[in-house]
Amino acid sequence: MVSIQVHKFGGACTGSKRALKQICKHIVVSEKPCIIAVSAAAGVTDFLKKTVTTVLMHKVAIPEVIKTLKHRHFELLPDNSTKETINALNTQFSQLERLLFGISYTEELTARTQDLILTFGERLISIIIKEHLRQQNIDVDIVDPTKLIVTDGVHGDAMAQLEKTENKTQKTLKPLLQGEKVIIVPGFYGISEKNHAVTVLGRSGTDYTATVLGYALEAKKIIIWKDVKGFMSADPRIVPHAHNIPQLSYEEAAELAHFGAKILHPLAVLPAQLKRIPIEIRHFYQPNISTIIRTNNENKENNVIKSVSYLKDLAVLKIYAAMGGHTRGLLAKLAISMENAEINVLSIATSQTCIAFLMKKEMVQRAVNSIKELHPRLIDSWQVEDDFALICVVGDGLGKIPGIASRVFNAVARVHVNVELISAGASHSAYHFTVKNTKLPQALRAVHDEFFSQRN
Ligand code: ASP
Ligand code: MG
Repeated sequence: MVSIQVHKFGGACTGSKRALKQICKHIVVSEKPCIIAVSAAAGVTDFLKKTVTTVLMHKVAIPEVIKTLKHRHFELLPDNSTKETINALNTQFSQLERLLFGISYTEELTARTQDLILTFGERLISIIIKEHLRQQNIDVDIVDPTKLIVTDGVHGDAMAQLEKTENKTQKTLKPLLQGEKVIIVPGFYGISEKNHAVTVLGRSGTDYTATVLGYALEAKKIIIWKDVKGFMSADPRIVPHAHNIPQLSYEEAAELAHFGAKILHPLAVLPAQLKRIPIEIRHFYQPNISTIIRTNNENKENNVIKSVSYLKDLAVLKIYAAMGGHTRGLLAKLAISMENAEINVLSIATSQTCIAFLMKKEMVQRAVNSIKELHPRLIDSWQVEDDFALICVVGDGLGKIPGIASRVFNAVARVHVNVELISAGASHSAYHFTVKNTKLPQALRAVHDEFFSQRN
C-alpha cells in the first residue's frame, strides 16, 4: 500500500474561518494521499456536554440550542458553499435535535446516548472542512470512524482495539487511498465491537484517533497540528524561560502526557510506538517549530533531562497497618479496593507499616469509603492529605546515570521545599515526587534551572 501521512487538527485549529483557511494551506502542500482527523470547533464539545444535562432538566429550549450551534457552524462555512454541503449540515442538526427531544421526553439520559450526542461537533466540522478543501480543488471525502475504529465499548472513555481496527480500516480505506485523495475522519469516536454503539475515546480523543489510524495504515508519519510550540521543557506559565523540546522518545512523551503536559492525549503514544511511526507535534502557524516523537537514538549522557512537568490538586491516602509487611496479599486487596471505587492511582509508596496512594483530590473520599471495609481486620487506620502536587522529571536513561537524583533533590532543598513522597526506579525515564501545592512554582523552577540554567 502507498505510504500515507495522518494529520490531526484540534479544536483551536478548526474553530475559526482563519484557522480553517490555514488547514487548507497545510493540506494543499501535504503529501497525498493523506488522512485528516479533526476535532470539533473550540468550545463545541463542552457546549454539547452542558446541553445534555440542561435538556434533561428542562432548563433550556432545544430550538435555542440548535440555533446557537447553527450560528457557530454556519459562520465557519466558506462563501459559495454548495447546496449539498448545507443540506448535509442541516441533516446533522435535525438528527441532533431529535436526539435532544428524545432525552427531554423520556427524561432519561443513557451513557450511550450521551456519547452519540457528544460526537456531533466532529461530524459537523468535518462537513465544513470538506467544503473548504473542495473549494481548493482537493479531491476530498469524509469517512465515518464507525467504519474504521473498533472500541472496547467503555462509554465516555473508550480504548481502541488495535488489531480489529487495523482489519476494518484496511478494508475500508485501502481502496479509497489512491492518487491525490484526502480523507477526513471525524475524530474522538469509534464503534464498540459488542453492541455496535458509538463510543467516545475520552476528552481530546482526536489525538488518539490519529495515532490509531496511523497504526492501522502503517502510516509514514502522524502530524499533530497545535497552536502551541510542541512539548516544552516546563510549563511556560510557571517557568517563563522554558524552551521547546525538538525531540522526545515515545517513553518520554508518554510520561509527560500522563503527568501534566497537556499536549497529547495520554493514550495516543502507544499505537505509534508499537509500529515505530514518528509523531510530529507541529505549530499550526509556525510549522518550523515542532517536537518529533520517535525511537531514541540520541547520546544519552548529554542533556539527559528533557522536561519537568506537574499535576496539581492531588491527595495522598496513607493507610497504616502495623503488620502490613507481614500480611500476604494486603497490597492486592488494597488495589482491588481502589479498582472497585474506580480510582486511577497515580503513584504508590510503601513501607513496612504504611502504604501511600496518590490520586486526584476529587477521588479520595471514594477511596476512603472503599478501603474502610478492610478495617479493622487488615488495616489499622488511614489519613488523607489533600494539598499535594506531583512533579515529574523526564528524560530517557535518567535512572541509570549517577548523580541525577541528587541534583533534582538538592535543587528542591535549596529553595526550602520539602519533598513528601518519591517514586523512582520504576521507570528509567522519569522520577516523580510530591510537594505541597503552594510550593509547586518554586520547586518546578528550581529543578528546571538546575538542568537548563546554562541555556539562559
Ligand atoms: N472534541 C473533543 C473534545 O473536546 C475531542 C477532541 O478535542 O479531540 O474533547
Ligand atoms: Mg477539543
